[in-house]
Amino acid sequence: KQFEQARVEGTPDKGLQEKMEKAEREIAGHVEASHNYRLQAFQEYRGRDILPITERTQDPEYQAKLDRNYETGINLGKLTRSEMREMRREMQMIFQDPAASLDPRQSVGKSIEEVYVINTDYPAPVRREKTMELLERVGLKREHYYSYPHALSGGQKQRVGIARAIALDTRFVVLDESVSALDVSVQAQILQLLNELSREKHLTYFFITHDLGVVKHFCDRILVMYLGNVCELAESSALFHKPLHPYTESLLAAVPRLKVGQEHSTEFVLEGDVPSAMTPPKGCPFHTRCSKCMEICTREKPPVVEQEPGHFVACHLYDKKKEETEV
Ligand code: SF4
Repeated sequence: KQFEQARVEGTPDKGLQEKMEKAEREIAGHVEASHNYRLQAFQEYRGRDILPITERTQDPEYQAKLDRNYETGINLGKLTRSEMREMRREMQMIFQDPAASLDPRQSVGKSIEEVYVINTDYPAPVRREKTMELLERVGLKREHYYSYPHALSGGQKQRVGIARAIALDTRFVVLDESVSALDVSVQAQILQLLNELSREKHLTYFFITHDLGVVKHFCDRILVMYLGNVCELAESSALFHKPLHPYTESLLAAVPRLKVGQEHSTEFVLEGDVPSAMTPPKGCPFHTRCSKCMEICTREKPPVVEQEPGHFVACHLYDKKKEETEV
């Protein structure tokens, strides 16, 4: 308690400072030992190698394992509760409404610290120190540990959400419309922070959004969906330069143009309403609004085909089987 008070308020007592530093060194040693023990235990339990994040990406064997997992997949629905908890250490989520994702009765420091309480056996002073370091890493101050959500702006609350998501050994983050509730200038700052963190921690983001401007500059690959169905999947540059699916064309045509002479094309303006996802139309889910709809589209759901290397599309206009049949 004395140490904690001295840490928060500072102390002129040199003897106490030295004791604190010694205790901190001991705690750091304990943390490392405990971390190694957890890694080893997890490795035995799951029967696979788990390396510290910095080593993982440089280890060809681990990469090969990841590739195999990518091919075979892991069915998350079949994991046990404890297996799921271990998986969750690597997968986190950042929500759309930063205010709703924080407990208004808890200081933001405590909200972040909860991650360590549940997933680690760090002692309280270490948890607090790590939380404060995280707050600094996401552009907040150490003193924000004691702030309540109502005292923070939208951007600051989203930074807290990010800090919570990267508190553990995170590899994969789902961002569900995570910047759409923020001002455009704040959006840019948060995207910049996310970019820095992805490079620093080798994170993979799964970014769900309706904002094509953000998508264009933030994502490597884009998957366009309509009523829960895949329309098109391609590298960002390919999708923006040469969209194949009529729905993608209409989405891109709807982006506002600033330059005179670049008015909207009316060719791709969609008519009608989006049908209910509970009772989607038969055949191609987009056929009720597609200007290129053909007879086959009302009967058969188009398969997803690789039209160009790495560029997949689900549309009968590109269905090779159909061409063969017609020939
Ligand atoms: Fe349009 Fe037919 Fe292609 Fe569907 S399959 S997007 S209805 S052309």
